[in-house]
Amino acid sequence: MKRLFNSASVGPDRCIFCKIVRGDLPSNKVYEDAHYLAFLDINPFSKGHTLVCPKEHGETIWDMKEDEIGGLFLAASKVSKAVVEATGAEGFRFVQNNGEAANQAVAHVHVHVIPVMMEHKGKTMNRLKLDEAEMQATASAIRTAMAP
Ligand code: AMP
Ligand code: ZN
Repeated sequence: MKRLFNSASVGPDRCIFCKIVRGDLPSNKVYEDAHYLAFLDINPFSKGHTLVCPKEHGETIWDMKEDEIGGLFLAASKVSKAVVEATGAEGFRFVQNNGEAANQAVAHVHVHVIPVMMEHKGKTMNRLKLDEAEMQATASAIRTAMAP
């Protein structure tokens, strides 16, 4: 199968999302099951911007088995409900970049869950810098909203 060019390609040893999955790098986790992990984006487009990834390393969606792709988006859908509830958002985006040409900066498959408000409609969103206390409080609110 064609492999999409990505200069950020590294193996699981050096991959930052694999390090987060292993607990070797810190993250603000919001959801975890046997196969998927969700954590806050460190440089969010909006408060509550979350990344959902498979625990197993693969660069793009083409590296995943079909049922794993379904599982990834099911996990992202569950996470989106908690993100919207916790942030009071009025909508959300899924963004899923594959390959450097698509601006994929981390070569480990992931789905962005980006909560949006009506004020975002039709506008370009810029990255925010939230302090760690605000990131932790947001992650905590999403975890609470994830609880059954
Ligand atoms: P993409 O451009 O689709 O590959 O998105 C990669 C995302 O990962 C970006 O939005 C980054 O802000 C985010 N990111 C990079 N490093 C980390 C990290 N250590 N923890 C959380 N998010 C990260
Ligand atoms: Zn990885």
